[in-house]
Amino acid sequence: MKRTESPNLVIISGPSGVGKGTVISALISRNSSLSLAISATTRSPRPIETHGQQYYFLTRDEFSKLATDNGFLEWCEVHGNAYGTLRSEIQRLQDLGKTVILEIDTQGAQKIKSEVPNCTFIFIEPPSMSELEFRLKTRGTEDPESVARRIEGAKIELAAKVDYDHRVVNSTVESAVHQIESILFLQEVPK
Ligand code: 5GP
Repeated sequence: MKRTESPNLVIISGPSGVGKGTVISALISRNSSLSLAISATTRSPRPIETHGQQYYFLTRDEFSKLATDNGFLEWCEVHGNAYGTLRSEIQRLQDLGKTVILEIDTQGAQKIKSEVPNCTFIFIEPPSMSELEFRLKTRGTEDPESVARRIEGAKIELAAKVDYDHRVVNSTVESAVHQIESILFLQEVPK
């Protein structure tokens, strides 16, 4: 099989708690050509998070100003907070020669689908809904109200999986990473 040309952007979505972050970290640590764009959010940092690492943590005012100035490729309200993909972040990584991964929700992915050509859309799904609930509850990063909101959100997100080019079940991190590697690097090039 021939290798494909790099896609413009790799969009990865999946319900909260499915393990996207862990899968993407493992994928990037094995593939230096890939890099994750850090999004901006108005959500408060979790105890282990720092500005510029997991997210750029902005106030509502800072976020709104950037949105008005066309600083986002897309942005959405997710679970009561605003999240957005910064155009400057994508440019920074593309200037370094990276294939850029966006970890965004399904509404954001829809917006990009209609605006940016040559993207690869990958949806990560849990082995089952009960496993997802278990992962969210035992992750310990959310209060019970936020867990309940994320479980409701997960049902909506899962319904959107049919719009994705590829679906990957995260049974184990290793197998999910292998599946994504074959999607990105081993697709047959159409003649
Ligand atoms: P969390 O609060 O758990 O870090 O993220 C909540 C949700 O926001 C996840 O589904 C994640 O994919 C989504 N998200 C993170 N960054 C962005 C972004 O830049 N744009 C959009 N549309 N969604 C994002």
